[in-house]
Amino acid sequence: MSWAVLQGVIDRLLASEAEERTLALAGGEPVLEWPLVRRAIEYVRESSSNGKPPAISLTSNGLLLDQEKARFLVEHDVEVQISLDGVREAHELRAPGTFDVLDRLLVRLRRDHPSWYRKRLSVGMTLTSANLPFLARSGEYLLGRGIESLRLAPLLTHDEGWGREADAELERQMGEVFDLCLEHYQRTGAIPLEVFRRPANPPEARHDRPVCRVNAPETQAVGVDGSVNGCPLLLAQEVGGTQAGSVLREWIERPEWPGLRRERYSSYGRCWDCDFIDECLVCPVASANIPGNTDPRRVPDSGCAFNRIIGRYRRLFPPVAGPEDHLKGNDPLPTAMTDLAKALGLG
Ligand code: SF4
Repeated sequence: MSWAVLQGVIDRLLASEAEERTLALAGGEPVLEWPLVRRAIEYVRESSSNGKPPAISLTSNGLLLDQEKARFLVEHDVEVQISLDGVREAHELRAPGTFDVLDRLLVRLRRDHPSWYRKRLSVGMTLTSANLPFLARSGEYLLGRGIESLRLAPLLTHDEGWGREADAELERQMGEVFDLCLEHYQRTGAIPLEVFRRPANPPEARHDRPVCRVNAPETQAVGVDGSVNGCPLLLAQEVGGTQAGSVLREWIERPEWPGLRRERYSSYGRCWDCDFIDECLVCPVASANIPGNTDPRRVPDSGCAFNRIIGRYRRLFPPVAGPEDHLKGNDPLPTAMTDLAKALGLG
């Protein structure tokens, strides 16, 4: 991407009157273009001295984040998501020979920037039928590394190893992950697995919501050549290994597209009959990636199983406490706090 394109994007963002503004740098691997990334971050921070500054996020495979780059990101308050699928056995399926590099990176970042690490670092895990048997151990490992924000998502491309056995394994693994997260929540008050976070008072269910926000005007993705789209997967550059762009573009043009949420189905059943229809996050790109599929209503079984099983556990998890809960004392006091109070003779 040329600086002229990137500067134009940032100027547009800075001119926005939206309450929340985020510049999200992603790839490919954005750190490969470090001088440009650095220039963009400095430009945002120098140009937004008035009002609430935009958030900046960077999604990276982490392999090039040396000490100097990390210090720069911390000093400029950049949120970083590192792609790491968990323990060695899980992650090496994605990128052989890289687990040790990333493990050392987490140890170093936590030691050098503990506060930023807790608040601004997240780990993105992609769940596949191959790394599924390591899911609970991976959750335990990442919690042990002090990660407070874990983003778990199913594979967007076709997962040919997914079947009923994988469903049973996901159920079993998620049971263990649930116990781990609940114990962590009771001890610290934090909910590390983002798919478990739910508001105490969710907005009213609307089954007629579009299946995705690709046409939402408030989010725009810009490709390296300056092309603009509501979704990065629909830019001229195909990312994430998906080849679904042209299929998806054709679907989005159809008049029935906005109402498809109710009409979708998988081999488990119809979305209209599903308890989780309102919170279902199966991306249409995953539908377009089912080999030979031409029906925009067909949802891959792996994505459907992920939403059903995780949705059930999410409902069992305590909701995120809001300001009202804090004021009324409805949010549970983490055991770490009560232990501290006791140790100080206050409890
Ligand atoms: S979980 Fe499956 S059946 Fe339910 S809404 Fe999502 S895709 Fe449809």
